[in-house]
Amino acid sequence: MSPMMEQYLEIKAAHPGLLLFYRMGDFYELFFEDAEIASRTLGIVLTKRGKHQALDIPMCGVPVERSEDYLHRLIEAGHRVAVCEQIEDPAAARARGNKSVVRRAVVRLVTPGTLTEDTLLDAKTNNYLLAIARSRGSAGTDRIGLAWIDISTAEFIVTECASGELAATLSRINPNEVIVTDALYGDPELGPVLRGLPAVTPLTRDLFDSATAERRLCDYFAVATMDGLSAMSRLEATAAAAAVSYIDRTQVGKRPPLQPPAREAQGTTMAIDPATRANLELTRTLAGERRGSLLDAIDCTVTAAGSRLLAQRLAAPLTDSAAIGHRLDAIAAFMDDGARREAIRGTLRSAPDLSRALARLSVGRGGPRDLAALRDGIVAADTALAQLPGLGEPPAEIAAIIAALRRPSRDLAQELSRALADALPLVKRDGGFIRDGYEAALDESRALRDTSRLVVAAMQARYAEQTGVKGLKIRHNNMLGYFVEVTAQHGERLLGKPLNATFIHRQTLLGQVRFTTAELGEIEAKIANAGDRALALELEIFERLSALSTAASDDLRAAAHGFALLDVTTALARLAVDDHYVRPEVDASLGFAIEAGRHPVVEQALKRDGQPFIANACDLSPLTTAGEGRVGAGQIWLITGPNMAGKSTFLRQNALIALMAQIGSFVPAARARIGIVDRLFSRVGAADDLARGRSTFMVEMVETAVILNQASERSLVILDEIGRGTATFDGLSIAWASIEHLHEHNRCRALFATHYHELTALSAKLPRLFNATVRVKEWHGDVVFLHEVLPGSADRSYGIQVAKLAGLPQPVIARAKSVLAKLEAKDRGQTARALADDLPLFAVPARAAAEPAPPSPADQLIAAVQALHPDEMSPREALEALYALKAKLPKA
Ligand code: ADP
Ligand code: MG
Repeated sequence: MSPMMEQYLEIKAAHPGLLLFYRMGDFYELFFEDAEIASRTLGIVLTKRGKHQALDIPMCGVPVERSEDYLHRLIEAGHRVAVCEQIEDPAAARARGNKSVVRRAVVRLVTPGTLTEDTLLDAKTNNYLLAIARSRGSAGTDRIGLAWIDISTAEFIVTECASGELAATLSRINPNEVIVTDALYGDPELGPVLRGLPAVTPLTRDLFDSATAERRLCDYFAVATMDGLSAMSRLEATAAAAAVSYIDRTQVGKRPPLQPPAREAQGTTMAIDPATRANLELTRTLAGERRGSLLDAIDCTVTAAGSRLLAQRLAAPLTDSAAIGHRLDAIAAFMDDGARREAIRGTLRSAPDLSRALARLSVGRGGPRDLAALRDGIVAADTALAQLPGLGEPPAEIAAIIAALRRPSRDLAQELSRALADALPLVKRDGGFIRDGYEAALDESRALRDTSRLVVAAMQARYAEQTGVKGLKIRHNNMLGYFVEVTAQHGERLLGKPLNATFIHRQTLLGQVRFTTAELGEIEAKIANAGDRALALELEIFERLSALSTAASDDLRAAAHGFALLDVTTALARLAVDDHYVRPEVDASLGFAIEAGRHPVVEQALKRDGQPFIANACDLSPLTTAGEGRVGAGQIWLITGPNMAGKSTFLRQNALIALMAQIGSFVPAARARIGIVDRLFSRVGAADDLARGRSTFMVEMVETAVILNQASERSLVILDEIGRGTATFDGLSIAWASIEHLHEHNRCRALFATHYHELTALSAKLPRLFNATVRVKEWHGDVVFLHEVLPGSADRSYGIQVAKLAGLPQPVIARAKSVLAKLEAKDRGQTARALADDLPLFAVPARAAAEPAPPSPADQLIAAVQALHPDEMSPREALEALYALKAKLPKA
């Protein structure tokens, strides 16, 4: 085995589970299985290099210059990569002897949760690494500690939850990478939740060792005790320590500065489980797109940091009405003065993403433009501060923004302005980013380098004259350095006497001949020295400025957060003005009264088509008149109406209005009074979950079970056509019993849309159940949707009219009408009201399922065909059977 292969295998073995980018000159090479994976994922050519155990070694390579792009694609595809660099000059290795290999070491592990590069990150979303630790309790009382970190913004948060809440908590945080112990990953109960996540990295126990957690955290933050920094439970500290240890491991010793872990108090946010999030299309539509989601509709922010903060708020609505009030006060302050608001948004738009620039500088991956970003950020803070006064006594949140924007040192901005050139290169490697006149020593080296370049130009003119070759050029390349070049036809002249005394032959190419001279060699050394010295000086200055900036990182981060707050606040004000939203009244009651509410997303979509959205009221507040001791709990609205009438839209708009109110936003309504909602549930009947291999009806029932088991008096429940996924009577009975349970047991505020008109009879029995219907008009046998929600119940489904609108063939429509008329005539005997009277609450509707309908002609045909056994028939019998079947057909 070659010494290089030996080195490769050793490094590879130390990083199991990662693809190894092995640096060789201008390429990162991948070998063996890594090469096969990369070639498949990246679509690059697979070659081979040497043999290992008598087999060819597969190899492929990516150029270092374009490696970020390739890394991005590998990470996207779910891989993790170890980047291995050459850590000495190849010349030094050669000096050690013929067979020695260049020293190499892994300098970084690139994983989905530990990225800092702009090209690898999505500007509008946080990039969280999340660690999970568990402490076992007696049956069902396991506790989970969570810690999540965005190293690109330094955010660091910890919390604890019950193991049953893990899925909901994860879907709220939406981490990009999760680390857990091997044991947890294989756990029968939590394993499936974890394995369903996009990137989970199971790790050995030592990272999750609670005994050493505190020490590892102290070590990371370079403090003697964590007490002064952060209050954490032991379980939270364990998760936090795992997260920082993993970061340490992936950044290979470079420690990105993090804020001390902030503890997220439990119960301060509205609980929203993954199904509800998906269902209400909060950040993604059911089809997985951002476009069409609530976030997309309400996101008018102009900065990436603002967009990230809005997404965070949307993921975790508050349950403290005072905190909500602070946010609303700040928005209110920007409602009236449109010119001021737009001026501030203009400033924000030009302000750079401070936190991410800072994060890159602090791990040594920053460039000149990151320094410029800090400079521009501080300047923008001043501009914004100048635009802010005049708001009178500023509300608390705006006062906090002002304080934050004042924090960064203005001297730092000045220093950076003086130092940085006007046009900046992307990378620091080649220099050229420090302004002339900033540092005398640098100016001197540059002058020397540049005058030498002039000397070369003069030399070229002189040589041209001396040789009489007009086209003589002095050129430069990396292999020869500076050289004299003439075309082949003039080569002979320089090779001959007397010129060959001056011009020493170096190289003959097809069209050119190249020479050097003693003089050129001297000047070359001078230029190279001056150039090297200038570059070294620039890099030194870069490090100095970088250190100056990272020393100020607390203040800069505070300002960055100030910008994000200002962006979200002004953006929500802008949205409220543009779309005519009002300030919601949020309190600790169990009230829920919306006047003229609208669906924020559907309204925008209709507006684009020039269509109006029909506003609708909804009141789930507790009844004021007493009766049977049930007063105090909110109401349940049962909404009936044909397909396409607007039931689902109405249900969702009320959930979204509550949610928007609790993130501290104005809401699409004429008026909204909302008593804090602790949990929000939303379910749609027969949703598909084929990915997890469960039948749609099973999914529907599992989700309904969660609600019936968990909803409290403070919760808001949206049930849309539950029971649709099974046979009619089954579905009706389940819906029936669920409503009774919600009313009697959960006592929550709820909206229930259904096409089972029979359920409306329940309102006679359940005092807080209120029937509403979406109005339609029949016009020349067609149905016209008015989208108006009114008290009452629909008497029919208009399913056939909708089918007609959808373009079902005319004969099918006609036939369906006559079948319906027959069925309805037959049904008249037993009304649903009678059914409701017969059934005491929670009784099983036994009779309902027992009554089979007479078989239809189609069913009779099927039965007849099923009774045939072709293998046992003679041709004659077969023919007779065919005639018999044909005779069974209904007469046309
Ligand atoms: P349902 O659940 O009753 O079948 P949807 O809520 O899905 O009906 O609504 C069907 C369509 O009707 C929606 O896609 C929307 O375009 C339109 N719609 C619903 N509600 C309204 C409304 N209040 N104003 C205007 N159009 C509406
Ligand atoms: Mg619907």
